[in-house]
Amino acid sequence: MERKQFELGDIVQMKKPHPCGTNEMEIIRMGMDIRIKCVGCKHSVLVPRVKFEKSMKKVLRSAADAGQQSGRTDNGSAE
Ligand SMILES: [Zn+2]
Repeated sequence: MERKQFELGDIVQMKKPHPCGTNEMEIIRMGMDIRIKCVGCKHSVLVPRVKFEKSMKKVLRSAADAGQQSGRTDNGSAE
């Protein structure tokens, strides 16, 4: 059985997109509850950890990985 791994600062993809159309959330607080912030509209929500694990699809970019690169590249040019 696979366990989802995520940490503070990770950008995660959810199974259901946010009403604003963005499907990427940033983890901004960890605890018994997880606070995630929509990358698109900056709206943040607090969800129980169990619920979060069920509703997230995968980690798109981990905070650790991003820290190794300087500057951000825009991913808008995928064809
Ligand atoms: Zn949003």
